[in-house]
Amino acid sequence: MASASGIRLGNGSIVYMSPQEKGARKRLEVGTRLKKLPPYLFVDIDRKREEAVKKGADIIHLGIGDPDLPTADAVVEKMAQAIKKPENHRYPLGRGTRVLREAIAGWYKRRFNVDLDPETEITTLIGSKEGIGHLPLALTDPKDDVLVPNPGYPPYFSGTVLAGAHPVPFPLDEVNRFLPDFDVLEHLDTKRVRLMFLNYPNNPTGAVAPLSLFKDAIEFARQRKIWLAHDNAYSELYYDAPPPSMLQTPGAKDITVEFHSLSKTFCMTGWRMGFACGNAQAIKALAQVKDNYDSGVFGAIQETAVFCLDNAEKLSESPREVFSRRKILFVEGLRKLGYEVFDPAGGLYVWVKVPEGQTSKSCAERILDEAAVICTPGNGFGDNGEGYIRFTLTAPEKRLKEALERLERVKW
Ligand SMILES: *Cc1c(COP(=O)(O)O)cnc(C)c1O
Repeated sequence: MASASGIRLGNGSIVYMSPQEKGARKRLEVGTRLKKLPPYLFVDIDRKREEAVKKGADIIHLGIGDPDLPTADAVVEKMAQAIKKPENHRYPLGRGTRVLREAIAGWYKRRFNVDLDPETEITTLIGSKEGIGHLPLALTDPKDDVLVPNPGYPPYFSGTVLAGAHPVPFPLDEVNRFLPDFDVLEHLDTKRVRLMFLNYPNNPTGAVAPLSLFKDAIEFARQRKIWLAHDNAYSELYYDAPPPSMLQTPGAKDITVEFHSLSKTFCMTGWRMGFACGNAQAIKALAQVKDNYDSGVFGAIQETAVFCLDNAEKLSESPREVFSRRKILFVEGLRKLGYEVFDPAGGLYVWVKVPEGQTSKSCAERILDEAAVICTPGNGFGDNGEGYIRFTLTAPEKRLKEALERLERVKW
């Protein structure tokens, strides 16, 4: 006689399972969510790169969006002080220190003229990627649809999948300067859409959105009762006018969460410091998810982040100038070589059309083989990125010049 045996849950209740069910649970297989993530596309390129490195090739890395400039001395110095304080050695917990949330609100007011309530409208993040990845868990239910840009930064898609929701990619096309076309999106069936991601200055294209685009987005989303998440990680890396915040748009706070990162602004990707702000209900939900996964950002980093934000105007200027010079040099150089380049208005990237007859993959592979320069195939950001490659501006001007010289040897 098969007897059902029970498993006691944390809340005291007992779940009974038949031996078959228990057997089914014991199978050593990883969960199915991971199988729904897109395949890793860079296997071949990674292998080629490893082979080239082994052979001692002098490779110019323009693949990953990680600033090569060191964190400013004053910031490192601040951290060295903060790290010695015992009160920073304990669990930080919660949404971040009150002092840091006030510094964030202060910077927002100065930079965007937007008022934020430090108590309810801000939470710190362990890098903005963490918050972006967790947001669908906070704002969607399984089987809801989430609109994600195509091409786009991969965590919008993967965070959605891991939450059990369904990503619906929408195209960013060059004819629209890589902005969403709301006249087209109007006709989309949005009954199940719960959340939409946008990102300007944009990775991978370098497009910057005017405030009018944000107005259109908010109108679109408000009418349909859709949450909006705007990723503003590159707000301080711009080459024309300073890009706006989505929260500058009237009514934005009713439905919008905006993400920021200290990573690119202050050249501190390894430190892991970002924040989300905007709609109080959404921020509360995100903070609640995080309470169950992490215990906050290291106190010493939070203390240093206050210094960064209080001095943001001064600290962000020098990296911006450096990347701006590199951008001009590299875009002009590529154009001289005959490449069709989208001139970026912000961000760390140069988005380039592949030559006639090439795919993203074949183009990136030949550039690696024949010029020992690493770039990223555009289809890694979604199928609508096919036909493009992405270079990052994360090498000194001298190295970028060398990359251009080598690219001259690649005949298409
Ligand atoms: C780099 C990047 C981020 C994340 O940075 P964190 O280091 O996690 O703060 C977020 N969004 C985009 C578009 C990025 O390129």
